[in-house]
Amino acid sequence: MTREDEIPDWVGAQEFYEKYEPKEILGRGVSSVVRRCVDKRTGQEYAVKIIDITPSDKMTPQEIEEIREATVKEIDILRKVYGKENIIQLKDCYETKAFFFLVFDLMRRGELFDYLTEKVTLSEKETRKIMRALLEVVQFLHSINIVHRDLKPENILLDDHMNIKLTDFGFSVQMDQGQKLNEVCGTPGYLAPEIIECSMDPNHPGYGTAVDLWSCGVIMYTLLAGSPPFWHRKQMLMLRMILAGNYQFTSPEWDDRSDTVKDLISRLLVVNPEKRYTASEALNHPFFQQYIVEEVRHFSPYRKFKVICLTVLASMRIYCNYRRAKPVTKEVIKSDPYAVKPIRKLIDACAFKIYGHWVKKGQTQNRAALFENSPKAILLSLAGEDVMLSMW
Ligand code: ADP
Ligand code: MG
Repeated sequence: MTREDEIPDWVGAQEFYEKYEPKEILGRGVSSVVRRCVDKRTGQEYAVKIIDITPSDKMTPQEIEEIREATVKEIDILRKVYGKENIIQLKDCYETKAFFFLVFDLMRRGELFDYLTEKVTLSEKETRKIMRALLEVVQFLHSINIVHRDLKPENILLDDHMNIKLTDFGFSVQMDQGQKLNEVCGTPGYLAPEIIECSMDPNHPGYGTAVDLWSCGVIMYTLLAGSPPFWHRKQMLMLRMILAGNYQFTSPEWDDRSDTVKDLISRLLVVNPEKRYTASEALNHPFFQQYIVEEVRHFSPYRKFKVICLTVLASMRIYCNYRRAKPVTKEVIKSDPYAVKPIRKLIDACAFKIYGHWVKKGQTQNRAALFENSPKAILLSLAGEDVMLSMW
């Protein structure tokens, strides 16, 4: 006799509702809704992911069965990674024929996606902290042959101390040694080229864990630039850009970024998965070795002299550049406002404040949509009315 025959269907749901009180919605997925909930006995807050598998007109019985099987797999993986730092912990789990209730630690600060929307772009220092934690998690997952397959800022949550917690193992799978995958899944902007190739070629040899490193490259680029590396309103053209590895460091935000960080991104966004960096290689990149300085430094007299000379030369250079620098006049702001960094930041921040709420997840909406309108054009019209100047 199976478990389903022994236990009435409502028992799992009743157990959940006896123990927890569900509250407001925190997020939604295709077939799930995530709510804050409170443990009635302790008052402790959690997040519950409620997965609806009730028969309905919207889904065929086969689709419902697929969701059920995928959720069972998700729970299995969540149990395997339980206790690992920077991964969300599954605290409790209830199952009925109609619903799954997955209880997690509550991440009050929400998604990395929303944090990025609030900040527009992140500094290299903050990106380093986030990417180091993410790559360490990916390194761990790959060491036990788990591939996540849906790495993106919406699936990276932040705890009270701004530490990341990777979540949503809905597409994750634990592979056998040497196994390759052919299933096409993930989120379009983050898809590795080899996954797209699988969708086009039924005889493709398949893909492996390297797909997660591609997504890490996309995330890293997005954190620093504010917009993703591959984006086109027409999805087909975006997929073509991904297949060709066609991205650039040309937006003004990249002017201030180090060559080291660009180098690491370019080693992750490599079309050939064999040549793409692994998580361990990425963690050994100089970008993550910075700020590890020797504790005691001994300078020889020659070295001291050299440092003095370099300091004098640098000071002279700064002074000359300062004298050559054009003052920021009303004319400069009117003719090319986006060229002035503080104004550029202000424009981007305003745009995100205004449009951030609708440029969200999903396949047709994307952060990049914000960058489609030329800020220069918008500002020119604003500057005409002296609106920007008064704000400035
Ligand atoms: P789906 O598979 O439907 O995408 P997720 O597990 O990614 O489901 O959850 C959907 C959204 O719910 C997340 O993007 C996030 O906004 C919110 N969420 C999920 N888990 C938590 C949590 N533990 N704490 C706070 N918010 C959460
Ligand atoms: Mg998700």
